[in-house]
Amino acid sequence: MTPTTPHPNTGGPQRFPVVVVGAGPAGLAVGNILRAASVDCLVLETETREFIERRPRAGVLEEWAVRGLQQRGLADNLVERAQLHTECEFRFAGERFRFSYVELTGHHHYVYPQPLLVTDLVREYADVRGGEIRFGVRDVRVHDLDTDRPSVSYVDPATGRREEVRCDFVAGCDGARGVTRAALPDTARISRHDYGTGWLALLAEAPPSNDCVVFGIHPNGFAGHMARSPEVTRYYLECPPGDDPDNWSHERVWSELQERLAATGTGPLTEGRLIEKRVLDMHSYVVEPMVFGRLFLAGDAAHLTAPIAAKGMNLALHDAFLLGDALVAYLTKGEETGLDGYSEGCLRRVWDYQEFSQWLSEVYHGTSSGDAYRAGTTFARLRRLFTSPAAAAAFAEQYLGTAPAY
Ligand SMILES: Cc1cc2nc3c(=O)[nH]c(=O)nc-3n(C[C@H](O)[C@H](O)[C@H](O)COP(=O)(O)OP(=O)(O)OC[C@H]3O[C@@H](n4cnc5c(N)ncnc54)[C@H](O)[C@@H]3O)c2cc1C
Repeated sequence: MTPTTPHPNTGGPQRFPVVVVGAGPAGLAVGNILRAASVDCLVLETETREFIERRPRAGVLEEWAVRGLQQRGLADNLVERAQLHTECEFRFAGERFRFSYVELTGHHHYVYPQPLLVTDLVREYADVRGGEIRFGVRDVRVHDLDTDRPSVSYVDPATGRREEVRCDFVAGCDGARGVTRAALPDTARISRHDYGTGWLALLAEAPPSNDCVVFGIHPNGFAGHMARSPEVTRYYLECPPGDDPDNWSHERVWSELQERLAATGTGPLTEGRLIEKRVLDMHSYVVEPMVFGRLFLAGDAAHLTAPIAAKGMNLALHDAFLLGDALVAYLTKGEETGLDGYSEGCLRRVWDYQEFSQWLSEVYHGTSSGDAYRAGTTFARLRRLFTSPAAAAAFAEQYLGTAPAY
């Protein structure tokens, strides 16, 4: 392993075996795995610690992802505080249909808000495992990735000076809007899919109105209800792509949610102040391979999965486990197999989850497409879930990410 120059701002370039760009779930999980094996690394993050510990996003974690965190000593708070979800509910044609995946499979989801997971991971990395992390860095650039002496440079927010960090590997974990994906050569294949629809993503200061996730399939558009905590609930409303959140007043949001999620035997939703309101254009992409020279992409930097099936954070953690373990094996024992198989090992699960998201998108959006044919096939898919045990088992397996092999 190359020795580390520990002190920053010495005037000359610093050196770390690994520089991780981005402190989201992927980057922080990689950093923690490296530090647990006493491998030095530097995490660079453009935002402040307070910001990343509060940024609301995902909440649904699959059992294998929680197990992976547990095995790496990263899930103590999560296991103590997460809610267990065992069922979901589809509402369509004015009726509610309960889908108990725990009864079918014995497996459940964990619900733990992403800001809490990020808070746990930063604390463990920086405060417990002694990892180096720099927040608020500006204008991050990656250099010489196709050599065995890559480097990363950034502008230090305190001094305004450009700092250079030399390393053996760069982990590109800087999400969908980062810089590392842009460093790929033209030969990298980026496959994109645009769903042609938008979702208004909402967080309401209101307790959940149902004891499980609800998917509302309605001619006005999809609506989703997902508990985040006893006080906060995430809602989604299908809207035109590129719609302006200001088009959605408090009254309009709640009236559409009440209408799209209504079904026989259900009461009105508990309304509350909207603390997040933004439009997500539903699109996905996959970068292949996820490696270029000494740059290894992980998480949303490598593949975006529209939040249709709540898969993105799970995939980010899957990549991080494979990458962290592979880097440790290489840097401590010279074993190359993990790094060689990294991209392929990630992409099998990535493509499987992409396919499931595409399938589910049609279920959510077919009815509101205005196309009677698509509406008909949507209802056929939904009916099949509740009449065919084989279809139900296949759905549960994909929804939970429990296939025996990917
Ligand atoms: C509304 C919404 C709901 C979602 N719900 C779910 C869900 O229920 N389940 C699920 O599994 N997934 C869900 N997702 C997806 C999930 O949030 C992402 O897939 C996940 O955050 C990806 O983690 P990441 O570490 O790859 O990237 P990110 O979390 O995006 O982290 C990247 C980090 O890099 C930083 N960064 C960016 N540019 C730079 C740069 N140039 N230099 C240094 N740092 C940089 C960013 O500030 C950020 O901290 C949801 C997403 C959204 C938007």
